[in-house]
Amino acid sequence: MRNKNEYTPMMQQYLTIKENYQDAFVFFRLGDFYELFFEDAQLASKELEIALTGREAGTAERVPMCGVPHHSADTYMNRLIERGYKVAVCEQVEDPTSAKGVVRREVVRLLTPGTVMNQTALNEKENNFILSVFSCPDAYTVAYCDLSTGENYAMRLPKEDQLLVGELISLGCKEIVVGADVNIQMFDNLRALKHLVLSMEESCEIPIEYQLLAQEIKDEGLRNAFGRLINYLTRTQKGALGHLQPISLTKNDSYLSIDYNSRRNLELTETIRSKARQGSLLWLLDKTKTAMGSRLLKQWIERPSIDKGVIEERLDVVEAFMNDFMLKEELKQHLDEVYDLERVSGRIGFGNANARDLLQLNSSLLQIPMIKTLLSTLPMPTIQQQLDKLEDCTDITSVLSKALVDNPPLSIKEGGIIKEGYNETLDEYRYIVSHGKEWILALEAAEREKTGIRSLKIKYNKVFGYYIEISKANLHLIPDDAGYERKQTLVNAERFITKELKEKENLILNAEEKSIQLEYELFLELRQLIKNDIPKIQQIAKIMAYFDVLQAFATISEESRYVRPQLNENHTIEVRDGRHPVVERVLKDAQYVENDCIMPDDLSVLLITGPNMSGKSTYMRQMALISVMAQMGCFVPASYANLPIFDQIFTRIGAADDLVSGHSTFMVEMMETNYAIEHATKNSLILLDEIGRGTATFDGMALAQSIIEYVHDEIGAKTLFSTHYHELTQLEKKCAHLENRHVRAKEHEGQLIFMHKVMEGPSDKSYGIHVAEIAKLPKPLITRAKELLHALEQDKLSIHSSSNMQDVEEEKWKIQDQTVNGDDEVKEEESVVNDVMPKVVVPNIEPGQ
Ligand code: ADP
Repeated sequence: MRNKNEYTPMMQQYLTIKENYQDAFVFFRLGDFYELFFEDAQLASKELEIALTGREAGTAERVPMCGVPHHSADTYMNRLIERGYKVAVCEQVEDPTSAKGVVRREVVRLLTPGTVMNQTALNEKENNFILSVFSCPDAYTVAYCDLSTGENYAMRLPKEDQLLVGELISLGCKEIVVGADVNIQMFDNLRALKHLVLSMEESCEIPIEYQLLAQEIKDEGLRNAFGRLINYLTRTQKGALGHLQPISLTKNDSYLSIDYNSRRNLELTETIRSKARQGSLLWLLDKTKTAMGSRLLKQWIERPSIDKGVIEERLDVVEAFMNDFMLKEELKQHLDEVYDLERVSGRIGFGNANARDLLQLNSSLLQIPMIKTLLSTLPMPTIQQQLDKLEDCTDITSVLSKALVDNPPLSIKEGGIIKEGYNETLDEYRYIVSHGKEWILALEAAEREKTGIRSLKIKYNKVFGYYIEISKANLHLIPDDAGYERKQTLVNAERFITKELKEKENLILNAEEKSIQLEYELFLELRQLIKNDIPKIQQIAKIMAYFDVLQAFATISEESRYVRPQLNENHTIEVRDGRHPVVERVLKDAQYVENDCIMPDDLSVLLITGPNMSGKSTYMRQMALISVMAQMGCFVPASYANLPIFDQIFTRIGAADDLVSGHSTFMVEMMETNYAIEHATKNSLILLDEIGRGTATFDGMALAQSIIEYVHDEIGAKTLFSTHYHELTQLEKKCAHLENRHVRAKEHEGQLIFMHKVMEGPSDKSYGIHVAEIAKLPKPLITRAKELLHALEQDKLSIHSSSNMQDVEEEKWKIQDQTVNGDDEVKEEESVVNDVMPKVVVPNIEPGQ
């Protein structure tokens, strides 16, 4: 602890303020700069690459210091926030000229990753959520808010840490507000990876002025979570939350639930490898024209509906748009003119909207009557209901159109915003200003005439105001009675004033100043006026977003030959000529091979075999994506689709992720499988890809079989299970609701050709060695693998012929015990080898045998 008394009064003031903002960089305003001191300065100078200096502050040693000019501070602050830091902005809150002693300073706002309002720091296609958690005895209650758009949500989650953390990542949440009731260790991983900032707030009571936002919420846990969030926001943002919208409750059981890992595996919003939007379903479907549409689309992808009525309504609109190409194109043109209304109204509510924001608002609102006229030609109740809620706002547009010039500057304090004819007083000031300038020009001409000096100029600067400038060479030409009063001597010229010039100057300058001040006031008035309409604008934004997403669905469905899915209530899947929407798009030269997926009511498990790289996981993902798209209300990539409405989708596909738990690959695989088994119902879709390959062969096979049996006997969910254990295909005989499928590949002149075609029945062999060959493993290695395989097959044959099945199993276990020494973690990359060379056989074959 520093002894404050040793420091100068100003540094004492700094230290007092810093005490309350230990976890933030304090940007301390000193004149035209923001300065940072002590450890803040040391760290910030590194992060921002600015010079570290020092300042005398009363002690023997100089205090470390660095600073940034106030006019460019935004950029520096944003950079720190992007890196997961907080910034406390400390301003001078009294006029330095009238202050006695040290100028009073206060923190006016705490900027944090979850509360960014600055346009340049926000991604327009994504929400920027801040989330708060409250721990109830049996649940986590969660409230989350996008301060930039004013959206507020709340939800209740089962008390499972994994689930909460997964939800947090899915929402792209950058900051979480908790109290002592929450065990924060579950966030350690995310915080270490700088994905998350943690903030504390103990107070959970909803302040009176925000009660209205939560009036629909009766659940105490949810109210506490919201209270915690709103208290944190008011404390850090110092008011200005007038644009917050009433909470809407996210009821997880009214959506198709897809847990975090499954969302990742299916690459719904980003790809697994590069974590990029490009290559994801969201990327493919995002044909939206507005930022709101793009954000709504992301919400729909993450939470498709399970309400048949809602889905059919959306499909109806999509179909209507597809049936009327011209209408859809015209709608798109109008939507092109619609700006980010949610964020504009956010800035209006927050008090930092400028004239360009209001102009964008105006241009957007002007589209409404045209959109209404256009869409009202579609006689559908869903559309009519939306249009009824879409208010015209001609009151706002007529004022804004009258008030704002076409190209206003960014600053609202320098004039140039308000149109001629909007305000009489302003027009008068402007008349004086412009005519004053004309007068100055006329005077300049007259003085030139009088003196005969053609280079004579009347100029202006801030120190002297208007003056006459004459070069040294011409000074002798000035008549004695000209009334010039010398003001300043330069190397080559002299500057003069006259009485007349000064009088006019007074009039002009005052008028200019007054007109700028008046413009500022008129602008604030406008902003205030519109502030009252924020809820109306937010409603419009929602409706625009709705139509925008549905036109995007229509556009992509048309471009990519999608069909309208039928929805059934009898557990039947019938997909004809289905395609994986993203793989189909990114395949360059190759043609995508269409595949059916037919599963009547009494068929619950498809066991899919086939060589690596043949297309098993693509086929499984394709099925899930088709379901997700259908339940979002989009057409699907197939020639025909009849689908049940799934309640949940679980997947265990591809590389496991340790972002959430930090566990090993195989452990994650088992945890994900367990999660599926625990939560799935008969109405769920489960995709399990090569379960068990992460452990020793028989261990894995045994697990795989028992998992299939369990899902088959106990759950009855529609399940696609791919495996390279051919032995498992025997299960078809034992399990009544299971059938084999295989992905066809054929050998041609020793080469393996993938047909990508899914066929009935099991595949007859494993092609691992061929895949290894294609992957260009060394020739001798491949030859050796073939020898081993051959030997293994011989071995198997001899076992088969000598004993019954039970003996075979025992024999296998025995061999395995000798050869697998606790190596229960085989990495992904090894799976090719694992395919062809079970560890069983190693001992008794010599090279070249
Ligand atoms: P597996 O799961 O059997 O190892 P994948 O599903 O990963 O195989 O598919 C391997 C590659 O084959 C994919 O990256 C894709 O390029 C291609 N592929 C898969 N299915 C098809 C298909 N139906 N049509 C065309 N190419 C496909």
